[in-house]
Amino acid sequence: MRALFARHALLPQGWQRDVLLEWDTRGDLTRVVPQAAAPLAVARADYVVPGMANLHSHAFQRAMGGLTERAEASANGGPDSFWTWRDLMYRFAARITPEQIEAIAAQLFVECLRHGYTSLCEFHYLQRGPGGQAYVRPAETAERVAAAGHATGMGLTLLPVLYSHAGFGEQPLKIEQARFRTGVDDIFGIVDALGPLRGPQFEVGAAPHSLRAATVNQVRELAASLPAGRPLHIHIAEQQGEVDQCIAFSGRRPVEYLMEQVDLDERWCLVHATHLNDEELRTLARSGAVAGLCPTTEANLGDGLFPLQAYIEAGGRFGIGSDSHVSQSPVEELRWLEYGQRLLHQRRNIAFTKEQRDVGQYLWQAALRGGAQATGRRVGALEEGRRADLLVLDGTHPNLDGAADEDVMGRFLFCGNDNLVRDVLCGGRWVVQAGRHMAQDTVAQRYRQAINELREQSEVGQ
Ligand SMILES: [Zn+2]
Repeated sequence: MRALFARHALLPQGWQRDVLLEWDTRGDLTRVVPQAAAPLAVARADYVVPGMANLHSHAFQRAMGGLTERAEASANGGPDSFWTWRDLMYRFAARITPEQIEAIAAQLFVECLRHGYTSLCEFHYLQRGPGGQAYVRPAETAERVAAAGHATGMGLTLLPVLYSHAGFGEQPLKIEQARFRTGVDDIFGIVDALGPLRGPQFEVGAAPHSLRAATVNQVRELAASLPAGRPLHIHIAEQQGEVDQCIAFSGRRPVEYLMEQVDLDERWCLVHATHLNDEELRTLARSGAVAGLCPTTEANLGDGLFPLQAYIEAGGRFGIGSDSHVSQSPVEELRWLEYGQRLLHQRRNIAFTKEQRDVGQYLWQAALRGGAQATGRRVGALEEGRRADLLVLDGTHPNLDGAADEDVMGRFLFCGNDNLVRDVLCGGRWVVQAGRHMAQDTVAQRYRQAINELREQSEVGQ
């Protein structure tokens, strides 16, 4: 039966009662009818919300989660930072095989689905073999991520990453970056190779890694040649050090420099965009591009805080991503996003607008809109023509039992640590039921095997 009757469902216009949802064999919503009569023999649910888009992921980094939380002495004697973390990540990335990439990605996607993400944008830069050798199939590792998406039911946007330089001014890649090396032609080769996989659950965009790793000419070439409507993502202004390097090279700040070189519009997702001045903030907000915020990773790496309040007031669009996967929960990302701002401003209730003063509901709906835009797929709302991606929240949990509509998102996002996502429908398929993903045991077994192999390889390598 491709239908669900929700006593309470979060639609674009807000909470509605007695909503009948129907979808077709392709997994698209065909009817969304509030105040419907409950049909016989249709499954029922208490609280239904749209599944969240995760707009920034490096899937392989899931296997590093929790392994970099020990104070290391850095080469220059400075404190641990993004840059010392990156050295550890490079060592990890040097060894990983395509089979291991697939196993790690599948484990990640199961966890993300179980916590309420139904779409994910994979910013994929591990394109070559160990030592920088090209694979026979140029899209070998990207296809592994796609296979993990297919096996777990996750809706994917795959973004092959253009990565040509180690820093501003076309610095040659370091040896530990050899697996990432691509030019513009390589990216189009991978985009073409992935073309036959495109469909309602899988889209292909492209991503210049950053203004450090791609020149502005390369960024322009990529943007001009990628088919219209396909998403373009870029890391930007994550670290103050990156801002300083960009100014030293170009006389411009990163967002300012990018905006001078390309027409920023709805296709673009600027990942992190943490360090913005007022002018950059206003121009980015006006552009229609999405700011890709990754609060748990940005906190873990000590990046800084995005100026969310001013950005919302300027009408800016944003979504959330789990990036390095220290968390796989959209609840935790949105909670951190709001709490970071409260700590910064020493105030409560930051993320809201005049039209939507409920912080939980505002955050979920805004991150849905921005995240959906960044995927380039028809997702992000319970409305006809979009993908049938929804979460059934556990209406029997003490936090939600009997909750009034206006309290549901506050309780979901800001109370407790239990996972309140009970069932997940993704692309019209029930992939999670009663908290269990359909393939979680086999996926976990392969993941354990991959981790054991990686551990043995690292012991041999020492
Ligand atoms: Zn990233």
